[in-house]
Amino acid sequence: MDKWKCQKCGACCSVAGSIIPLWDRGDGYCKYLTKDNLCSIYKDRPDICRVDKSKITDEQLIIACNGLRELRKRREFNENFKPDLEYSKG
Ligand code: SF4
Ligand code: SF4
Repeated sequence: MDKWKCQKCGACCSVAGSIIPLWDRGDGYCKYLTKDNLCSIYKDRPDICRVDKSKITDEQLIIACNGLRELRKRREFNENFKPDLEYSKG
């Protein structure tokens, strides 16, 4: 069974600047995002950067995350698709 894997697209860190202006590296992306699209403070990242499944629906997660969207495409029309968050970013 396919498992979700972060595609390191950086999309989820692209709006950090509008949420925490001090973290804006100048183009809206978070200044802690490395050139390889990894979080340089991953272990100490703030709560807002952690997925809390009690506050976000599976559908919202899929909309926000390229990796999940690609995984869902591979399982096209599978109504039972559920994001598998066993693998985290980094
Ligand atoms: S702290 Fe890390 S996970 Fe959070 S927006 Fe910045 S780079 Fe992304
Ligand atoms: S968690 Fe999703 S949106 Fe964020 S970098 Fe990975 S694939 Fe992209």
